[in-house]
Amino acid sequence: MIASPATSATLASDCDVLVIGGGPAGSTAAALLAERGYHVTLLEKAHHPRFHIGESLLPANLPLLEKLGVADAVKAIGMEKWGAEFVSPWHEHKQTFEFSEAMDKSMPMAYQVRRSEFDEILIRNASRKNARVVEGCQVQEVDFLPGNAGALARARHEDGAIETVRARFVLDASGRDTLLANRFKAKHRNKKHNSAAIYAHFSGAARNPGRAEGNITIFWFEHGWFWFIPLSGGATSIGAVTWPYYLKTRKKKPLDQFLHETIALCAPLNQLLQNAELISPVEATGNFSYVCDHTHGSNYLLLGDAYTFIDPVFSSGVMLAMHSAFVATDTVDTCLRDPRHATAALKKFDHSMRTGPKEFSWFIYRVTNPTMRDMFMGPSNIFRMKEALLSLLAGDVYGKTPIRVPLLIFKAMYCAISLRNFRRTLTAWRMRKRNIRAVDETGTVMN
Ligand SMILES: Cc1cc2nc3c(=O)[nH]c(=O)nc-3n(C[C@H](O)[C@H](O)[C@H](O)COP(=O)(O)OP(=O)(O)OC[C@H]3O[C@@H](n4cnc5c(N)ncnc54)[C@H](O)[C@@H]3O)c2cc1C
Repeated sequence: MIASPATSATLASDCDVLVIGGGPAGSTAAALLAERGYHVTLLEKAHHPRFHIGESLLPANLPLLEKLGVADAVKAIGMEKWGAEFVSPWHEHKQTFEFSEAMDKSMPMAYQVRRSEFDEILIRNASRKNARVVEGCQVQEVDFLPGNAGALARARHEDGAIETVRARFVLDASGRDTLLANRFKAKHRNKKHNSAAIYAHFSGAARNPGRAEGNITIFWFEHGWFWFIPLSGGATSIGAVTWPYYLKTRKKKPLDQFLHETIALCAPLNQLLQNAELISPVEATGNFSYVCDHTHGSNYLLLGDAYTFIDPVFSSGVMLAMHSAFVATDTVDTCLRDPRHATAALKKFDHSMRTGPKEFSWFIYRVTNPTMRDMFMGPSNIFRMKEALLSLLAGDVYGKTPIRVPLLIFKAMYCAISLRNFRRTLTAWRMRKRNIRAVDETGTVMN
């Protein structure tokens, strides 16, 4: 792996695997492949530590952090998260799910993390494992060479220098930038779902006492739902995930005013923020649900958000991204070392990339439906349905997980209750159909 300056503004380098992007997916894959002896180049357009949204991890993340060798480092910066709480304006009580009650008792907790710190741990780990990590370097183009000969990528360093990287294999972990999917016009808006988010950090939010301090709370409200994520050091991440039309009602209002007005629509959350102070810029993300029409191609794989993003309600994004990196590592290893088995390895990768999002999607599409809300707020453990729901919330969705049969029964119950309340179901279904329509900057419906 040589990076040799040809002129002051042009560099050329070779590697086995080029990783585009140093978020959880890219840094995990780079570390694992470097550990297996591959020459890995990871190019990241930003500099760590940098802000990123997505701060609530799942219990299923922990074994991945152990395998990467960063579990202690994450523990040191993380806030312990033992459960998830749901608050609904249509129900009197608060529903708490403790991960220790899930089917797999070996994953009782997770962490809430500042992504600036978490992502920096992961990218430094990749460096330590001997991946060549370059920050402030944006990949601009990737050309795949004929005859399965790998790829030639062009990247721009922030001093203006252009680097040409020749790689045998490319992992696109560019997140929501979806570099390769854009190039191949493979990215499609998810027609079954659509939402937008507005979020910021606050200090002084009232928190649960004791071990429940780090629990995530989801507050439903009229236009969607809020997250309440307590971080270590006293800050709390608050975000509203709303139907796109609602974000557009902001018009020209400053974002912080709009966030405060939105919080005021949710009395129980507003109560917790009585003495809180905004301590970060307010950010917004619109129309954020998409999926690509393929997961891989000749000499490349799409990882994490570079393949799909559905919705953050189950805090699944980082776990899915890191899991995709683990499967990608085995896949690349097979493709490069033992090409005779490449087809089977790629098929397995494809299946895995679709499985996680699929398990969560069914629930995500229905999470604002009154039947689903009732089932979350009063979960029954007949046929171990509650335990299976908890396992889903913990991210236990891969391999030989025993959740499938109880979740199938849960889904059947959902359908039966929906049918029993046919009018309510129809009204909710019509409303959802209206709500998920994409709107443009002016608030006009796009489809
Ligand atoms: C509003 C919201 C709330 C969320 N909440 C949660 C949550 O609570 N829990 C959770 O698990 N997930 C959450 N997510 C999802 C989570 O943020 C993502 O799923 C996760 O970050 C995906 O990781 P990734 O590595 O695929 O992409 P990213 O983390 O986005 O990393 C991609 C990296 O690639 C770099 N990059 C992009 N283009 C280039 C280029 N051309 N060249 C070089 N570098 C490039 C970027 O700078 C970035 O560092 C949330 C998402 C949203 C939108």
